[in-house]
This record gives sequence, structure tokens and C-alpha cells, in this order.
Amino acid sequence: MHFFQYKGKKLFAEDTDIAQIASDVGTPFYLYSYKTLIRHYNAFENGVKLLPHMVCYSVKANSNITILKIFINKGWGLDIVSGGELYRALMSGCPPNKIVFSGVGKTDEEIRRAIQAGILMFNVESSQELEEIHKVANHIGEIARISLRVNPDIDPETHPYIATGLFKNKFGIPYSEVKEIYKKANNLSNIEVVGISCHIGSQIIQLQPFIDAFKKLKELYFDLKKMGIEIKYIDLGGGLGIPYKEEEKPPHPEEYGSNIAKEASDVDATFIFEPGRVIVGNAGVLITRVLFTKDGADRRFVVVDAGMNDLIRPSLYNSFHQVLPVIKKGGKETVSDLVGPICETGDFFAKNRKMPNFEKGDLVAILGAGAYGFSMSSNYNSRPRIPEILVKEDKFWVIRVRESEEDLIRGENIPDHFKEEQ
Ligand SMILES: *Cc1c(COP(=O)(O)O)cnc(C)c1O
Repeated sequence: MHFFQYKGKKLFAEDTDIAQIASDVGTPFYLYSYKTLIRHYNAFENGVKLLPHMVCYSVKANSNITILKIFINKGWGLDIVSGGELYRALMSGCPPNKIVFSGVGKTDEEIRRAIQAGILMFNVESSQELEEIHKVANHIGEIARISLRVNPDIDPETHPYIATGLFKNKFGIPYSEVKEIYKKANNLSNIEVVGISCHIGSQIIQLQPFIDAFKKLKELYFDLKKMGIEIKYIDLGGGLGIPYKEEEKPPHPEEYGSNIAKEASDVDATFIFEPGRVIVGNAGVLITRVLFTKDGADRRFVVVDAGMNDLIRPSLYNSFHQVLPVIKKGGKETVSDLVGPICETGDFFAKNRKMPNFEKGDLVAILGAGAYGFSMSSNYNSRPRIPEILVKEDKFWVIRVRESEEDLIRGENIPDHFKEEQ
């Protein structure tokens, strides 16, 4: 559920006329709904309320510091995957003891900064990483809290690019090896073992893979107990899917939480959840304007001013995004491709789809763009990144300004050697 709805013929974000925002800030832009974010926050909290828990929102889904701040204000922590995300987390005021650090390739510098900031724990993805964290912690005379990220070999039945919990994926430590590494971790002077973690993939629209993964973690939890290793945190990662198409029915957080709780009655640990997409995905839309239309042999091309550099999901995952007119005009629908201006065949938002007969100048809303939208955007084709706007009721704020052309070449310079013809 989200709060992008028509009032008469006009698409509104909560109580704000989207066409009005477009005339104020220009196109294209990302638009987020505060009320939708809070609705999803409440649904998730309510879903996991039967479990002792802490939610660490996954920063990479949507990293804008205002979005982070909204969740921090509500008491959530953050799941980070880089030094840059650590910086964002701290800049938006996240208490360090609510930060968990995931990711397969942490550098010494990132590890050191995270230890010094006092984060809750590292989710460690390999034996070598464990040694490195120990080395860094030892060097600066600190103790690093860790959990091991287990690869439970569960098929989440999602797009292959976002499945992360299979043996063939690069993520986590194979289940068969993990106990040995726990033993090793437990003997390292500057390491404190506090948790078990997993994250089996993203946009998972079935419940069973989550339950299967939890069962494996639970088995490990009891095995570790027998070995004298007390686990305080069980981190189940993120991955809950959202309905990109209206007919899709991913598990509701309520169903997710209550089913985990059913399996967890004999476990004495705090559960950590790292939701990203399910919180922000449908709380954001991409608003773009039609530049031109072209009638091809078997379809119409609608060329808009946003491109795959702004929203890469269709190009990268062949993902589906609903397309709506910002102002309904009626009339017949046409089979069209909604495409961007970039010099790539993969630059499309919708293909071979019945959509309103868009014309030059029309505004188009691309739905489900709040997660992995702006955060995956780039400057490809030397296109300044677009602004992010937050709506609350009838007010809106620019929470990231449109980049300028100066921004595009910031940090570049032409050495004297090349200033004149050789
Ligand atoms: C990306 C990621 C998440 C968030 O995944 P969603 O599918 O957006 O919920 C959580 N945890 C880790 C470790 C991740 O890499």
C-alpha cells in the first residue's frame, strides 16, 4: 500500500499535486511519501513484535540521509555495507551501537573506522575477514564484536542476480565450515562472538525460504551453545519482496514475523532484521516527462527525460515497474516501449506494454522506485543525478538537489602536461 493516488484525473503524493511539484523542481525527480514510509515502518514493527528484536534498516536500498533520519527517529538502527554508508549513518545521527556492518569485501580502513565508531557488530563473511578484523582490533587495542554470516544454501527463488544464499553465491560462510570458524573466533583475543547472521537474497516473494534459513540458523545456535558459545543476536537479514505488479502477493511482514516467532519459542536471543526494499520500495516514484514519441513498425516508442542511469532496475534485472500518467487524459491505450535518452539498447523502463497514449510534454510516474532507485543511479552519459523530493501531506522538501554540470567534473583536472598540444 502506498499514498500515490488519483484525486480526479490528477495523481497526488499524499495531499500534494505531483504536477505542481514537477513545475517547481523540473523533471526528472524521485518522489518519496513520508506517510508510506511510516506505514511500512509500522507494518514491519507490528509484524515482528512477538520477537525480541532490533530493526537495522538496510542503507543501500535508499541512502538519503533524511530517509535514514526518519527511521533513526523511530528508534531503528542501520545495516551498512561500506565506509561511505558508515559515514552516512553517523552523519544522520544513528547511535553507533545500532549499526551492523555487512558485506564481502571490507577494507582495513573501513574496519578500523567502524570499530572506533563503536558499531554493534560486523557480519563476517570469511575466515580471512575474521583474521583481518582481529588484526585491526588488536592493533588499535579494541575488541570487535562479530557475527558470522552463514550461507545456508537456500534457494530464495528470486532473480539470480539478487539470490545470495546459495553455495554458488559469493556471500557468507558455507554451513559446513562455520562451526570451525566460530571456534577459531572464540579463541581470538580481540574478537567477541555475539551473533549469527544470514541474508538469503532480495525480492523474495515466498515465506518458506525464510523459514528454512531460520531453521538452519537455529540448529547452529544450539550447536554453538553446546560448544560453550553464547549467541546474543540472530540476524535474519532482509529480503522481503514487494508487489511490483498489482497481482503479486509477497508475504506480509505480519506473516513473516509470526512464522519466525512460531519457530523461535525455544531461542533466547535478540533478533535483528535488515529490511530495505519492503520499507522504501513502494514509498518512492520516479517522475519523468515525455520528450518525444516515435511510431516504430510494431510499437510506439515513448522517449522520456529519465534514463537507465537514474533507474537501472529494468536494465539490470529486467524488473517490472508500473507506469502511470500523472494526469489522466482518457482515450485509447497503445502498446509502447517507455525508453530513456541513453545510448544503450538496455535503456528502457517498460517494454511492449499497453499504456496511455502518452504525448510530448506529458508527465509519467514510474512506480516502485523507492528502493535501489536513486541509490544505484550514476552519471552515465554525463547526466547530472536527479533530485530527491520528500512529501508529507501537502508539503514537500527537496532532500537532495539536482546535480549541476560543475558537479559532473568535480575532482577531474587536466595536468599541465596535457594543456597544450604535444
Ligand atoms: C541488501 C541487503 C539487505 C536488504 O535487502 P532487501 O532485499 O532490500 O530487504 C539486508 N542485508 C544485507 C546484508 C544486504 O546485503
